[in-house]
Amino acid sequence: APRVGVLALQGDFREHIAVLRGLGADAVPVRRASELDDVAGLVIPGGESSVMDKLSRTFGLAQPLKDAIAAGLPVYGTCAGLIMLADTILDAIRGQESLGGLDVVVRRNAFGSQLESFETDLDIPAVGDEPMHAVFIRAPIVESVGPCATPLAALADGRVVAVEQGNLIGTSFHPEMTGDTRFHEYFLKRVRERAAYNGQDLQK
Ligand code: GLN
Repeated sequence: APRVGVLALQGDFREHIAVLRGLGADAVPVRRASELDDVAGLVIPGGESSVMDKLSRTFGLAQPLKDAIAAGLPVYGTCAGLIMLADTILDAIRGQESLGGLDVVVRRNAFGSQLESFETDLDIPAVGDEPMHAVFIRAPIVESVGPCATPLAALADGRVVAVEQGNLIGTSFHPEMTGDTRFHEYFLKRVRERAAYNGQDLQK
């Protein structure tokens, strides 16, 4: 099984590790730059992106993460993780930076108080024909998608809530909370493809 990391500085990394292990992956928490060298893919969980940003810089992970993203490491970000992957953040906390990589503009906490948390079903052809039940928790919205990124899912009003670009996938919502594993499988497929392309030992 491929070894995949879950950034474990803050947020719901345990849920992602459980989902990935349930799918047969060798999922491990990543807290140090050296641990990035051992993984064939990385999930950035939900949580609070400004805190994750601060911790990743404090612990010397931000630049290694940027380097890994630029080198083609498959990375899947949910909610705060999507914010971390976005090239541009609106309504960021003062001084907040992202890792970048996804050619999108995201707005933090984009849903008003009554809709801070909500659930809905989404059509996501990239992962299958059945609609996906999606949980949004103080979620970001993708306000604009640049030419390098591709939208994967939108709300009924057209606002984009899932995107991909090369090695990167981001969702505003939390598939790690619903038992629908299709996004994690989609990510693991990327991981396997890249590992094969690199001629890496999949058992590593
Ligand atoms: N509002 C959070 C942020 O700005 C994201 C919330 C979440 O990950 N569920 O990072």
